[in-house]
Amino acid sequence: MSQRPFALDPIFRAQNSLAGVGPKIAQLMEKLVGGPKIWDLLKHLPVDFIDRRYAPKVSEAQNQKIATMEVTIGKHSPNARRGLPYRVAANDDTGAMTLTFFHANKDWLAKQLPVGEKRIVSGKVEYYQGNPQIVHPDIAPLSQRHTLETVEPIYPLTQGVTNKILRKAIQSSLGFVPKLPEWLDPAYKKQQRWADWHEALEDVHNPPGENGLSPAYPARQRLAYDELLSNQLTLALVRYKQKRKSGRSFAGDNALRNKLLTELPFSLTGAQERSLQEIGDDMESELKMLRLLQGDVGSGKTVVAAMAMLQAIECGAQAAMMAPTEILARQHYEGLKPLFEAIGVRVVALTGRDKGKARDTILHQIANGAAQIVIGTHAIFQDAVQYQDLGLAVIDEQHRFGVHQRLALSEKGKHADVLVMTATPIPRTLTLTSYGDMDVSRLDEKPPGRKPIDTRLFASDKIETVIHGLQRQIADGTRVYWVCPLVEESEKMDLAAAEERYDVLKHFLGEDKVGLIHGRMKPDEKDAVMARFAAGELSILVATTVIEVGVNVPEATIMVIEHAERFGLAQLHQLRGRVGRGGDQSYCFLIYSGPLSETGKERLSTMRDTEDGFVIAEKDLELRGAGDILGTRQSGSLEFKFANLAEHAELIAAARDDARLIIDKDPDLKSERGEALRTLLYLFERDQAIKYLSSG
Ligand code: ADP
Ligand code: MG
Repeated sequence: MSQRPFALDPIFRAQNSLAGVGPKIAQLMEKLVGGPKIWDLLKHLPVDFIDRRYAPKVSEAQNQKIATMEVTIGKHSPNARRGLPYRVAANDDTGAMTLTFFHANKDWLAKQLPVGEKRIVSGKVEYYQGNPQIVHPDIAPLSQRHTLETVEPIYPLTQGVTNKILRKAIQSSLGFVPKLPEWLDPAYKKQQRWADWHEALEDVHNPPGENGLSPAYPARQRLAYDELLSNQLTLALVRYKQKRKSGRSFAGDNALRNKLLTELPFSLTGAQERSLQEIGDDMESELKMLRLLQGDVGSGKTVVAAMAMLQAIECGAQAAMMAPTEILARQHYEGLKPLFEAIGVRVVALTGRDKGKARDTILHQIANGAAQIVIGTHAIFQDAVQYQDLGLAVIDEQHRFGVHQRLALSEKGKHADVLVMTATPIPRTLTLTSYGDMDVSRLDEKPPGRKPIDTRLFASDKIETVIHGLQRQIADGTRVYWVCPLVEESEKMDLAAAEERYDVLKHFLGEDKVGLIHGRMKPDEKDAVMARFAAGELSILVATTVIEVGVNVPEATIMVIEHAERFGLAQLHQLRGRVGRGGDQSYCFLIYSGPLSETGKERLSTMRDTEDGFVIAEKDLELRGAGDILGTRQSGSLEFKFANLAEHAELIAAARDDARLIIDKDPDLKSERGEALRTLLYLFERDQAIKYLSSG
């Protein structure tokens, strides 16, 4: 079966095939809901709810209740200052109230709410200084009194698509929803008291009350579970098929690994030993390794990777290690080369920068096996690169690569084992949804001797205090990172431009002490500056977020982050991880521009209060959502429309267990339930899974 089931055709049709949806609206709607199909429209869920059944007089309107009232519009009081709301007075014969608007469009409000006329307003009543008010009320003319729905779900909207238009389109879409064979396990469905799929869709778009918007609402749960199950089935299938492509055991005799251990100036942490044991067992087994090594910044992943690579080399195979950036690839290479050479292992670097003859030589060495270890960027897995015998592929900082790259990579080698390393501690639920095909090892213990990083918050008007403090520190030989969000002054926002900051710091701290590194520099320019900083020629490195990933300068002990409120938690954590790598006390100064939003405050105080990457990651998920945590490239495959990773943790775990059981019992999805599950995979367009099923 490589054909989409016919039953799905009606909802896979374009939105402009709906009555009343012309090309212009269709275009806007497609952008709004994230896809052109009727099914995409059905995935667009209401976020709010107007209940017009409660229609009190103004003086009787109860606090915190959603109410609909007929009022006469009074005086408009435009916002006196930016940031203050625009208020409109209104009243009926029992009392007065206020309609409040933030970021108001004056002209629009004047048209919608003409002074002296009557309007029907709906929304949540909130008492403010003793008076009832509604923030951003829904507004309708009296003439609509009889056509207004008494309960109306409200969708996220865009300019040109009103709730009325969208709701009508979604209601007619519901008419095209087919009855599909049930793919849920009957016992589980019964236990959860879930309705059939088509009924659940109907239900989420016609909720009986505000509770229908909650992630705990049964219809929402069912649809979320379906989506998660399609995701987990895909991962379980990938896992199953990848593992089956096996037959290679890399046992090794420990000779090289033991030699490396004697070369290292430290002994391994318990967590490193444990992870190496897990990796070693995987590589020794006949099954292909698909393992994720999670470890906070500075937890010592590199040496674990080096040991794993040596295990492959001991068996006569090659190993490759891919980093996401040129700088990182070079740094891994420079760091590992002396160690490998000391034990007689030949290593080459290959990045996009290598051209012409030099590149040909490297390719030749890779092809004939003269290069035992290859370290580089994604260049090492381009078609032109042929390995003599790739046994292990290591991918560093995986969250910057997509699942497809991960797979392409492992297909380079005949049955090559795959070790993925990520420095972003990932919340449990996200590990399941994006790495569910893998086994996980954790470096949950930092190398000894690290002092906690002292993190402090500064409002931006205290920036001079910070700079004066640095003057003293630098005189004592301290090295400092100074991170700014953008390269050049943007006209719209007062971003602290790195170049400007560079000039200011040079002025205060000395021309020859300050370096600048940013994304628009050429790779060798960047490397040159980085090298001067690492060597101690520069005391301060002003940087945009190019230094975000992996760069290791143990002597750097101060991290200053400007406009910290503009960074995500995971990013701040990564940045802070650049310091605290040596034995000295390190500091992180988070400079913010107020006023901070509630979320902004929570983010920064989380940073101040903990260094536990796992705690930070959970908080990040709660405050921001999944796409942001993993970075944009991968978020496409992770964009859940029904499921909410912060709210549906239990469903994720259940879907994962369900999926693994299904695939263990029926890997080709041939049973009756299997057939229904295929429909589910088509419904959510899980191409990877469908490809695997078709190829058998
Ligand atoms: P990351 O996990 O961020 O990639 P690295 O592998 O770069 O961390 O290691 C960070 C630093 O810790 C390096 O300087 C490394 O040499 C050092 N290191 C690694 N393991 C240990 C250990 N067991 N004891 C002491 N230092 C270690
Ligand atoms: Mg690293």
